[in-house]
Amino acid sequence: MIIDCHGHYTTAPAELQTFRDGQIAALKNPTNAAVQQPKISDDQIRESLEKAQLKLQRERGTDLTVFSPRASAMAHHIGTETTSLEWTRVCNDLIQRVCGLYPENFVGVCQLPQSPGVAPGNSAAELERCVKDLGFIGCNLNPDPSGGLWNSPPLTDRHWYPLYEKMVELDVPAMVHVSSSCNPNFHATGAHYINADTTAFMQFLTSDLFKDFPTLRFIIPHGGGAVPFHWGRYRGLAQDMKRPPLEELLLKNVFFDTCVYHLPGIELLLKVVPVENILFGSEMVGAVRGIDPRTGQYYDDTKRYIDALPIPAADKNKVFEQNAYRVYPRLKQRLAKAG
Ligand SMILES: [Zn+2]
Repeated sequence: MIIDCHGHYTTAPAELQTFRDGQIAALKNPTNAAVQQPKISDDQIRESLEKAQLKLQRERGTDLTVFSPRASAMAHHIGTETTSLEWTRVCNDLIQRVCGLYPENFVGVCQLPQSPGVAPGNSAAELERCVKDLGFIGCNLNPDPSGGLWNSPPLTDRHWYPLYEKMVELDVPAMVHVSSSCNPNFHATGAHYINADTTAFMQFLTSDLFKDFPTLRFIIPHGGGAVPFHWGRYRGLAQDMKRPPLEELLLKNVFFDTCVYHLPGIELLLKVVPVENILFGSEMVGAVRGIDPRTGQYYDDTKRYIDALPIPAADKNKVFEQNAYRVYPRLKQRLAKAG
């Protein structure tokens, strides 16, 4: 089985965005009546997926996508904590409907109702609802709910601990995933995302977070940002700071996906990061939608790059499937139910 650990519902029916637009408009005029929940039929959901994610799964030969709401639309900076919670619940409920319609193709990961300046522990209840009631297996955690201003404490600060306690209790990982950028210096998918991946890794490196939470797990997406390319720098920084080697310090807790959109990048990732720490991901349909004229293939068809690597089949199996079971322990239970 080939498990894609990183997919978003970027093709949701337009009613979802209409709801969000209404919600944002109502913030400017709070005397308006409450915005009506989006009405989306099962057929609309099927149509939105059949021509996109499901088609690509079939064409590319992948089986199951760990599926979450559109990351760039989380926009935790908009409105208040209540705005964020309302939007988050609508998005998560829609993911659950997708997973209910296609239990063999999708398994859910939730958005969290984060809001700038609000204690992350306040997101624990929605995480619990998604895991216990909706059958989700993880969450996306935004290290910068301000959308590019970076004014929250680092992920290793005790500020985040109440949410981590819930993650540990539920035995679910988080993908470190920012949302849209309000800062014109940082293009969302080209800079803000990659900055966040790199930033999170360095935060983990400098702290004793995993001494406090030995079973806490994070996936750093987009191939780990700049981290694999600069692996020597991070090893050297850890050494200079008298920190333990990276294997000991964080590689029991931190994993990388394969959302790197060319073969040389994947070759480097597999050469530098232990194979046990790499999870297959494509982030389709989303960040980069085009075809590479040099190969004639979609940039985000990341399975091709792994297929092309001269590594043992057992290692490929770890990347495609086995590592996912360790990082998402609830996945096996969920698959047993779906089967
Ligand atoms: Zn993503």
